[in-house]
Amino acid sequence: MSIFTDVESNVRSYCRAFPDTFLSAKGSIVNAVSGKQYIDFFAGAGALNYGHNHEYIKRRMIEYLESDGIIHSLDMYTGAKEQFLHTFRSTILDKKSYPYKVQFCGPTGTNAVEAAIKLARKVTKRVGVFAFMGSFHGMSLGSLSVTSNHYHRQAAGIPLSNVTFIPYPGDTYDINSIDYIEKILQDDHSGIEKPAAIIIEPIQAEGGINIAPNNWLKALSEICRKHEILLICDDVQVGCGRTGSFFSFEDAGIVPDLVVLSKSISGYGLPMALLLIKEQYDVWNPGEHNGTFRGNQLAFVAATAALELWSSKPFQQKVSENSSFIKTVLEKDFVNLYPNIHVRGKGMIWGIDFSEIPITEKAYEVRDICFSNGLIVECVGRQDKVVKILPPLTIEQEILRQGFEILADSIAMGIK
Ligand code: PMP
Repeated sequence: MSIFTDVESNVRSYCRAFPDTFLSAKGSIVNAVSGKQYIDFFAGAGALNYGHNHEYIKRRMIEYLESDGIIHSLDMYTGAKEQFLHTFRSTILDKKSYPYKVQFCGPTGTNAVEAAIKLARKVTKRVGVFAFMGSFHGMSLGSLSVTSNHYHRQAAGIPLSNVTFIPYPGDTYDINSIDYIEKILQDDHSGIEKPAAIIIEPIQAEGGINIAPNNWLKALSEICRKHEILLICDDVQVGCGRTGSFFSFEDAGIVPDLVVLSKSISGYGLPMALLLIKEQYDVWNPGEHNGTFRGNQLAFVAATAALELWSSKPFQQKVSENSSFIKTVLEKDFVNLYPNIHVRGKGMIWGIDFSEIPITEKAYEVRDICFSNGLIVECVGRQDKVVKILPPLTIEQEILRQGFEILADSIAMGIK
């Protein structure tokens, strides 16, 4: 480990929880220098929905590289971008008549969140943003301002202003936050100005797998429409098929004004981030939000292949089977074994909540035992008390079953 501890900054994080050196991976299996194999229930925090090194996507990238396809071109028109846009329109936008323009942002999720907030301010000529307690939107100053975690916020070193945090539905505050938002917008003594935007994750992943009910999301969308506030949906982690539909908000029947996508949009773990903008809000002037790496050409190629996979019936059938399998295992087997744990989730993102178990570090302990037993899972939520289950969508059911066996054994060992 010494080259890492000697040379790499103290800021490194996931490597502390998963202390091995990873060399190669295929599908849901990761091989490490220790000779161990791990089942991956973490999937690059949602960047590997198609698993590691998916053969179909990899072939297309190799063909592109071998043809000396353009690799970098700022935001000039390229064949790779053209194909991606055609495919994105036909497989995602046209399927539900989504009225979105596509903005290519800098390479990671936080870049697209920044663009969304900036655009909402430009459209509305207002400054403030409402965000939710438990939220995670990224680490650069704008997205950090709407991220609730104190540990991350204090690292900013400057005040993170112009944001009002609202309780997320179902959390410990136990208030009807739709009524609360409505009230503060109408109360001329609330002291809170009408915001440019409300930013929401329909499922908070880093926040502990908290799920906003469909009717609640509908009501939120309605408030935004009524008060001419832009609704930004951050689908960075739970978009791209994670919840069963391509966007996480589809079941709620809403069409957010701005949608942020990243992580698995490229399908191969390559950096790529998009902002989807309802046409009437595409008020950018040319080059007003610029950057060198906006449109990773290899990611366009990978993303085109990934969308082809996503839109195939067998693929969606597999996701649906895997989702039912996880739901059954967790809701029937796990909860019966351990009445003090709670499980919640949707599609292929689930959380096992240990917060009712008196020992604070329980979830960490389970994560660490899982790792020594060959399973990668991460902890999220308040005080990291929720073990997050996030396997690749493509995982084989036999491997999924093995992963849950390791998880059950590790909980048994950790909980005694
Ligand atoms: N939004 C959400 C919901 C996320 O989960 C993340 C990353 N975990 C981000 C934004 C930031 O993305 P990135 O780390 O790629 O900047």
